[in-house]
Amino acid sequence: MPRDSRYDILFEPVQIGPVTAPNRFYQVPHCTGMGWLRPRMLAGMREVKAEGGWGVVCTEYNSIHPSSDDLPHPSASLWDDSDIRAHRLMTDKVHAHGALAGAELWYGGIRTSNTMTREVAMDLDSFPNSVGNPFQTRAMDKTDIKTFRHWHKRAALRARDAGFDIVYVYATHGYLISNFLNPRMNTRGDEYGGSMENRTRLVRELIEETKEAVGDRCAVAVRFSADEKIGQDGVPIHGERRDMFEMLAEMPDLWDINIADYSLEMGVSRFVKEAPLEPYMDFVKSATSKPVVTVGRFTSPDTMLSQVKRGIVDFIGAARPSIADPFLPKKINEGRIDSIRECIGCNVCYSGDSIGVPIRCTQNPTMGEEWRKGWHPEKIDPKGSDSSVLIVGAGPAGLEAARALGERGYQVTLAEASRDLGGRVTRECALPGMSEYARVRNYREQELQEMTNVEIYRESALTAEDVMAFEADHVAIATGATWRKERFNGEAYVSIAVPSSAPEILTPDDIVAGVTPTGPVLVYDEDGYYLGGVIAEHLHLKGLDVAIATPADNISDWAGKTSERWRVRTHLMKLGIETIVSHSLQSYDGNSATLVCEYSGREKPIAVGSVVMVTQRSPNDALYQELLATVDGQVEELPFTLKRIGDCEAPAIIAAATYAGHKYARELDAAIDPDEPLKHDRVDVGETTATGVA
Ligand code: ADP
Ligand code: SF4
Repeated sequence: MPRDSRYDILFEPVQIGPVTAPNRFYQVPHCTGMGWLRPRMLAGMREVKAEGGWGVVCTEYNSIHPSSDDLPHPSASLWDDSDIRAHRLMTDKVHAHGALAGAELWYGGIRTSNTMTREVAMDLDSFPNSVGNPFQTRAMDKTDIKTFRHWHKRAALRARDAGFDIVYVYATHGYLISNFLNPRMNTRGDEYGGSMENRTRLVRELIEETKEAVGDRCAVAVRFSADEKIGQDGVPIHGERRDMFEMLAEMPDLWDINIADYSLEMGVSRFVKEAPLEPYMDFVKSATSKPVVTVGRFTSPDTMLSQVKRGIVDFIGAARPSIADPFLPKKINEGRIDSIRECIGCNVCYSGDSIGVPIRCTQNPTMGEEWRKGWHPEKIDPKGSDSSVLIVGAGPAGLEAARALGERGYQVTLAEASRDLGGRVTRECALPGMSEYARVRNYREQELQEMTNVEIYRESALTAEDVMAFEADHVAIATGATWRKERFNGEAYVSIAVPSSAPEILTPDDIVAGVTPTGPVLVYDEDGYYLGGVIAEHLHLKGLDVAIATPADNISDWAGKTSERWRVRTHLMKLGIETIVSHSLQSYDGNSATLVCEYSGREKPIAVGSVVMVTQRSPNDALYQELLATVDGQVEELPFTLKRIGDCEAPAIIAAATYAGHKYARELDAAIDPDEPLKHDRVDVGETTATGVA
């Protein structure tokens, strides 16, 4: 289909200083958990973005010197010539698809403690490390500032030599350069502190010096915050930012605008919807003639169009939408808007960097697997035989398996016990703030509708006899998992019910099925991700008196890795939900739940009418086990191949289920060596000799 001419404006080339972007789709710098550690994986991943039509593809933040190291979060780096070679892998691939490549130069300052390199971090004063490590920075003297500028320039030259077209001065997100701009932090008495003129001196010098170094070949971009400090969502506190921006407005070739509140800029869909930065952008375009980019988890082409037409931005900036769908621009260009795999705003992508592992995505199971598994988001091998496949269960795992197998051309039957497809996402998306999770189902259901080789049977709970009678060549059991009423005490699953009592103990499955518990309710969260908080909010909105308790030291502890933990706790506290940390649930008799302090062992009784256990899940693998039992566990004796996938195999996050479904589809009839299933991106020490490494 040709593209809708309304969107033509999104495909106009835009000049950025000495270079020209082929269109307005701009993948801003985003972390990947790969950086300098995994350059081949990184290059493979960035390449698909360029192939998918992003006119600019940036790499993640690049440390300019060993005194700015961020491990365990793997940044990219521009420390030496080997970094130039590593980045070349990416820039060559990006250029091959006609896109521009961008590099963001980074110096962490207060946010880094350099535990890998053991160099002393520098910032404008002797500050405590702002991410909680017991280290302070060295206050930069004038020689340090000079040295820093020299490192910045050397890194810019390396970026140019690595083939980048856009080089960033990175002046936001609480890193060194942004601190120089900050009137409350920068109280230096020299020409770099005090007045706005003085506080902007370093940025001005860096822009000038970067231009001098690479400006004939590369555009120089500045990443800058439009507001001065965090306020209420959507109500910017601009402070002196407008004046500061006007002072710098014509200096760089491009402005990449952020805001002070990272949890809004990078907000999860539960709390933040599309285009949240718009109220912060009101003065930007009118104050500069240079092109402007910002982000907003843009997935709707109409929102993108409106942003450009109304003069809010020149480029549609994206990290997450480009992760969920690297081919988003191409799909708009080809009139395939219904095929866009929309980001659900879960921030599982961000968790990869938090943990220091390669990026993964709930919606796009190929993300991060481009190089090591050769997976492509839009291409998949045709079927390896004429065999038929039966998939039991249409949750994220079953749906993705059916979609990808359907795309491969297999004859697929998808049987689902309930009327609705989607499994857990359909159940969870009805809970407060969770509506965008339905996109996991919607994208796949939409794609499946187009496939004549995939048959879907709803309200079809299959038994082992049904499966045997079906005579498929391959059977995948994707029947999900059920929340337990017990808790895991570190060694075993144990009941919390006081013997001979019959207390009301419920699970999230009961709540999403519509059960209203007797109040007051204790939500006991041992899962530690988002669901405990969501269930607590849901019950609160039903008018119940709710408390949430967890043995962890934080509410929704794992959600710290997706950057939503802070918002979750603030939100629950504002709603008036009592939050209890570091307490495990020992027992419940129907009237009193006994919590025990994880440290002191002290008991804390709490009077409640019911308890909702958000603890662990039990795989729904009865069907799988029954089928196995027909051949006494000898799976190869079945007349079909049998696999369990997703939560039925091992309960986990939704991203693990879509990945499992995709993997099953990719590997059917494929020659995968089970001993070496993936390529390993690491330093190869080369040939070894009898006496050691050559
Ligand atoms: P996953 O996350 O692994 O995809 P879900 O729990 O989200 O798992 O989805 C599992 C789906 O399987 C649910 O929609 C459920 O209704 C369905 N299901 C469970 N047992 C059967 C069965 N015997 N026959 C057909 N569908 C089933
Ligand atoms: Fe969007 Fe979630 Fe994928 Fe990140 S992991 S790109 S937030 S769908």
